[in-house]
Amino acid sequence: MDCLFCKIINKEIPAQIVYEDEHVVAFNDINPQAPTHLLIIPRTHISTLNDISETQTSLIGHMVKSAATIAKQMGFDERGYRTVFNCNEDGGQTVYHIHLHLLGGKAMGWPPYQDTLKTAIEQ
Ligand code: AMP
Ligand code: ZN
Repeated sequence: MDCLFCKIINKEIPAQIVYEDEHVVAFNDINPQAPTHLLIIPRTHISTLNDISETQTSLIGHMVKSAATIAKQMGFDERGYRTVFNCNEDGGQTVYHIHLHLLGGKAMGWPPYQDTLKTAIEQ
């Protein structure tokens, strides 16, 4: 399958892997938006959040739990962090193998895209 993240899982494309287990792999985002910016991906190819089956819900829970485990290992669990799943075009998804962004190491604002949201409401 011609999928960038499957190639990272199969070690056909290099990545700085910081955590891996039987179900997930976590590696540094190539274009970090925070001092720590990791992507947590399932070893199984799932294109978008819309494609998650009922039998895969525990896998998604494991991805989220892995984010918390990594945050603790990296020492920013108490200060806090952000986890994001982008889905399809409006969600800003660019790689079609689901991934959980884990961002930490700085204080982040909310809402994240106020200007864009305003534009969307006005349309
Ligand atoms: P999204 O826009 O939510 O689909 O996120 C895709 C993320 O993958 C972006 O933050 C990219 O910077 C990141 N990315 C793209 N190619 C690579 C790569 N080869 N290694 C690590 N991260 C990547
Ligand atoms: Zn894939």
